[in-house]
Amino acid sequence: MLRRMTTQKRIVYQALEDLGHASVEFLIEYLRRKNEQISLATIYRNIQALLAEQKIKIVNLRGNDVLETVKEDHAHFICEQCGSIEDIIVDKEKIISRTSKNCIHQIKNCDMAFYGLCRNCTKNRKGKENEVRL
Ligand SMILES: [Zn+2]
Ligand SMILES: [Zn+2]
Repeated sequence: MLRRMTTQKRIVYQALEDLGHASVEFLIEYLRRKNEQISLATIYRNIQALLAEQKIKIVNLRGNDVLETVKEDHAHFICEQCGSIEDIIVDKEKIISRTSKNCIHQIKNCDMAFYGLCRNCTKNRKGKENEVRL
């Protein structure tokens, strides 16, 4: 029984790792499509358990709560065209220490998001520009 639980938990964790970032609804849909015998209650229970164990966490991006696996501290890049979310590495400590110098508050952490065009959308846009020119 315990073993089965662990397996299901691993399935949920693995799915989130594959997806990178996903809303609870999207993760459920993905899991049910891939693994039809997993029940909704099981998915919810395992999401809660993984959250409690701090193996996954909730991040709020543009007003949407999304889940991701807990990993190295990072910021997010969000494509303004297709909405894709990527992790990007930033020197948070440096940013916090610099910002602290100009701030009367005691800063402990920061969440950052960067916006622009992802590599795919940049490529597509360039392709179109070239077409027009030809
Ligand atoms: Zn994009
Ligand atoms: Zn992330």
